[in-house]
Parts: sequence; structure tokens; C-alpha cells
Amino acid sequence: MLIRYFFTLKSNTCNSRLLYLSYFFILPLFLFNFSGFAQKNNKLKTIIVDAGHGGHDSGATGDYENSLNSQEKDITLAISLKLVDALKEKFPDLKVIPTRTTDVYQSVTEKANIANENNGDLFICIHADYGPTKSGRRQVGTHTVKNYHVSYLGKGKKKKKITTPYYVEEPIYDYFKMPLGRNGTSVWIFAAHKTSDKLKAIMSESGQSESEYQVEAIADSSFSKINFSTPEGKVIAQVYAKRYQEKSELLARLVNVEIEKTSRPALGVNQRQVGIWVLQATKMPSILIETGFINNQEDEIYLNSENGQLEIVNSITQAVLRYKEHIENN
Ligand SMILES: [Zn+2]
Repeated sequence: MLIRYFFTLKSNTCNSRLLYLSYFFILPLFLFNFSGFAQKNNKLKTIIVDAGHGGHDSGATGDYENSLNSQEKDITLAISLKLVDALKEKFPDLKVIPTRTTDVYQSVTEKANIANENNGDLFICIHADYGPTKSGRRQVGTHTVKNYHVSYLGKGKKKKKITTPYYVEEPIYDYFKMPLGRNGTSVWIFAAHKTSDKLKAIMSESGQSESEYQVEAIADSSFSKINFSTPEGKVIAQVYAKRYQEKSELLARLVNVEIEKTSRPALGVNQRQVGIWVLQATKMPSILIETGFINNQEDEIYLNSENGQLEIVNSITQAVLRYKEHIENN
């Protein structure tokens, strides 16, 4: 399997010495990761649920004024534990495996390894988003400042400097972080070339460019610096796309449809080429759900509430049900 892919890819695209060498050192690692997939049938047997972040990697924090100060790692864990329970209840015959059930740190490699070692057929990552904040200020009082007025008396050698003090009242400001204006749930899949029109519209409303948005996302620990615009990066992306993209996209769309049925904004299915590492490192269809914005007040309260968590879990479970029916009957 590995060897066949190696030569197919090589004969198609290899021109330079550098690229040729990269096949020896880089591609085998990735192709090995993918090599277990081809023989599987379409029966859904094992779902991996990943609670994003954990331990000293707390992810994003609700840090605006009067926020709950909640941490992404706690929200992702709470939602993931509920999701595991809900999936087990709905599908008693399926294996549902969480990457973590406590507040422990896991690198994205560890997370991907857990998914691969357990031969997952589906990988669902739970995260919470964070948008760029603005600072506000308000006057909380005044204080008296002593200034000096300078004047001169006389001329030549007799010239004398006279400083006269005077007092002014100056405002005292309190600076604070404002909550993010937008809220909603977005779903991400790996390795294509566009951001949903909905999210694009939101980004342009807030005066934020797509590239700025992506820079923020890359700061998330789930995102790596693999450059998919390099020749070898493109091949890796193509291999992933060929095998898992269609199913990843199907599940992502179904999740978005279920979110649309709730009262919160569904921000669409988004595809990002610049590395959602944990998604492309798993040899199975994978999605990442940004459940809501932790620094939006409404979303932060929702994400920390029992009802909010259960509503998101229900949306995902319904989407998995429809996904399962679709792939097993086609
Ligand atoms: Zn995250």
C-alpha cells in the first residue's frame, strides 16, 4: 500500500531533487498514517471524541469585563464527556472513546495517536473559539495635577525665571476588555480552500480580514506550522483529501444543519489549508467544532450552562445519526 502510493505520487509530480528527497523522509510518515484506511468498509464502529486542550494548555479564556473567566479546556471537557455519554446511549453497539476524561495535558500528536491506535472511524474535536477584543475605558474619577507656568522678568543679566504653580483636575480612566460582539458555532475540516461565506461576511463586518482570522486560529495549539503550499505539503493535503474529505465534509454539514435548528447562529462549514494538524494526522474523517466564542458574553454563559452543553451535544449526536445512516446505506 505504502509503496504503491509512493511510486504513483512520485511519477506524477516529482521534478526537483528536493521534492524527490522529501518523498523519502516526509511522505512515508504521512502515508503510513493513512495506510490503514483503504480496506475498511463503511460501517461506523468507533468514534473518537477529543476534548480540546487540557492541563497547562488551557486554550482560550473568557477575559472580558464581568466574564465568567472560564477556560476553554474545561468547556471542551464538559461537552465531550456529555457527548460520549449521549453517543453511547444512542448507539449502544458503537465504541465511543474519549481522548481525555480529566484535566490532563495532551499534545496534538498524542490526541491523534489515540484516535489512530483505536482505529477510529470518526474523529470529533470539541473546541471553543475566541475573537479579537477591543478595549474600552471609562472615567472613574479625577485627580489634581500640579503644573507650572513659566515666565521671565527683566532683561539681559538681570533676567529672572519665574515659575508659578497651578492646579488642574485630570480624569482617571479605568481600562477594560469588551466582550466580543459575535457568537455562534462553526465547523472546520481540513484541506480545502475556502472559508464559508457566512464567516467571511462576519469577518468583514468586524473589519477583520480572512488572513487575520487565520492567524488567530493558528495560535490555537491544535494548529501546526506545516506549510501546505509547499510541493510535499500539497501532496499530503491531496492524499488526505482523496480519502477523508468527502466524509469529513458530510459530517461537518450535518452538524451545521443541526446547529441551524437551534436559536444560535450556525457559522457554516469552513475549510482551512493551513494546518489543522490534529485533523490531518488522523486516518479517519475528522471535524473540529468551535462550539462558541468564549469571549462573547452570551456564548460564554451558554457554553458553561448545562442546557447549552446538552443542546450542542444533541446537535452533534443527531448529525452523527444522519451521517451513520448515510454512509452505511450508500
Ligand atoms: Zn481550541
